[in-house]
Amino acid sequence: MRGLVLGAGQLGAMMGEVASRLGVELWRYCPDTHRYFFGTEMDSCGDKGPDGFDWVTAERELLPQTPFHGELLNLSTYQLVSDRLPQKKLYDELDLPTAPWGELKKGDSADALLAKIGTSLVVKARQGGYDGKGQWRVKEPGFVSEADCIAEAMIPFQREVSLVGVRAKDGRKLFYPLVENFHKDGILVETKAPAPDMHQWQGEAERILGALMDHLGYVGVMAVELFDCGDKLLINEMAPRVHNSGHWTQDGANICQFELHLRAVAGLPLPAELLWRPTIMDNLIGVAFDPNWLAGEGKVHWYNKEPRPGRKVGHINRWL
Ligand code: ATP
Ligand code: MG
Repeated sequence: MRGLVLGAGQLGAMMGEVASRLGVELWRYCPDTHRYFFGTEMDSCGDKGPDGFDWVTAERELLPQTPFHGELLNLSTYQLVSDRLPQKKLYDELDLPTAPWGELKKGDSADALLAKIGTSLVVKARQGGYDGKGQWRVKEPGFVSEADCIAEAMIPFQREVSLVGVRAKDGRKLFYPLVENFHKDGILVETKAPAPDMHQWQGEAERILGALMDHLGYVGVMAVELFDCGDKLLINEMAPRVHNSGHWTQDGANICQFELHLRAVAGLPLPAELLWRPTIMDNLIGVAFDPNWLAGEGKVHWYNKEPRPGRKVGHINRWL
């Protein structure tokens, strides 16, 4: 069976690591440079691909038009989620808990929303943000939006958690445990699985992610980032793809998120259940490869990328 991932980053490459074990010949295609990549390779094999693919998936939600859009699974979900405005509207429509919000068009003043929401605002560009980019904190009147944005109430959360789950073509769903995420400068630095003392919220988190996947008819792995407010969970954002906070599953679960995603999109059976053990994932950010990492007890995953400040170049998974 032959599959294609749109996007040429490390998420698709990590799908490539498990593909051959499933009998899947996995190709990746960069929608920006129109070049193909094979399996786990980070160097392109040119602008010619094979004749056809049995299925097409993606490693990111914001995608320029490609020749593969007609076959792309979850296309409508990618289009919805790549824009924060319909994404927030969807939470409201499904009555799912999220931070109070409003829309800000380019050139709009945030004063009215600041007065209405009554607290500081986090203004987020509707499209293209990641790792905290395209965001502004607004504490005083006078802010004028420089892009089409949404503005959310600043939530005084206790911690940030996320849930990664999968939905098969027949609607069956499986979930990993809630994990706790630690950020620095807007970038995820560490994930702790499971999130300590969150067991009582597992059902609520599964209800939220399950409702989103069912409503969208989604097939594959999806993540939802949540704020733990002590007495409630609020959705921060959803990611219709394998997610950095699920990388621990490569070494901490019977079946990792990359394999779950491939199985779901390829129409292969999901496992009877997900088994896992407590694991910590540390991102390697902007650093050169250090062989000393290998002397620790963790498993090193290096992406073969040039280190640049703020760039994720690998991660280490360690059992707790
Ligand atoms: P990612 O790298 O996960 O794609 P992102 O750049 O898309 O991130 P968000 O996850 O929306 O953006 O926000 C980045 C971080 O900013 C969050 O992890 C959280 O720490 C903080 N943040 C976002 N929205 C709020 C909010 N409404 N209240 C308080 N903090 C917030
Ligand atoms: Mg986020």
